[in-house]
Amino acid sequence: MPGTLYVVATPIGNLEDITHRALRVLREVDIIACEDTRHTRKLLNHYGIKTKVTSYHDHNERERTVELLQALASGTNVAIVSDAGTPSISDPGFRLVSEAGAQGLAVVALPGATALIAALVASGLPTDEFFFAGFLPARSGERRARLTKLRELPATLIFYEAPHRIAATLKDAHEILGERRAVIARELTKMHEEIARGRLSELAERFASDERARGEIVLLIDRTPIEMENAAEVRNIAKLVAGFEAEGLDHRAALKKAARELGLTRDEAYRRLIAERGN
Ligand code: SAM
Repeated sequence: MPGTLYVVATPIGNLEDITHRALRVLREVDIIACEDTRHTRKLLNHYGIKTKVTSYHDHNERERTVELLQALASGTNVAIVSDAGTPSISDPGFRLVSEAGAQGLAVVALPGATALIAALVASGLPTDEFFFAGFLPARSGERRARLTKLRELPATLIFYEAPHRIAATLKDAHEILGERRAVIARELTKMHEEIARGRLSELAERFASDERARGEIVLLIDRTPIEMENAAEVRNIAKLVAGFEAEGLDHRAALKKAARELGLTRDEAYRRLIAERGN
């Protein structure tokens, strides 16, 4: 019987963020393929796991994939882990998983931590549609070209970014995407965890200093520029008021409630309602 390849998520900072099943599988497999064996040994030692490890990283993945596929074919159970979070998500793993799948070998994912999902759910930005774009190019010209391609996408944009590049990325993002709500999720699950919310221009200013831009960072950007968002709200106010009226509120109370929901004063809401009806 061929072995199984387990893709095992490990913590992104807090060692408690690992599942019971992940620990059991890491204990039971014959070998663990690690991005950095020294790094993973710390995790294994913490949980008293003594399984044999081997390296699997960007520089040896081609040869190591061949060896691990042979091992799997001859019945060895293999787990793959990266230094943090989910393997294959901006980390090694893709080649081995892809080729194992193509050869008909069993691949089992053990879900767990990944920085992009932790950042998204803590951000307060829409979660119904999102696009994970990994790391943006390091050079400004290429980065701006990539951002331009993403400009029309109707989804929350999620990027991984290095601390020494975040200020330049925020500046480029503001220039290319316009003023949008954005979030910096920094050092998630660690002692200095921070969720910084603001407009792109505000965050660019806040994270311009090296002091602020430390540690590991996820950048999230809302799908529409702020002006467009307001325009959509303007169009929607009559609908909102009508909805509240249908629920039994009188016109005055419905307008008051709609204004509160949209963050407008009652006068502003009234003026927008009139303007909208005049259109
Ligand atoms: N495989 C990982 C995952 O599932 O999230 C991602 C590995 S990628 C090489 C490393 C990048 O992920 C960092 O530069 C940062 O953008 C993001 N990241 C990882 N851990 C993080 C954390 N604790 N807080 C914020 N971002 C993190």
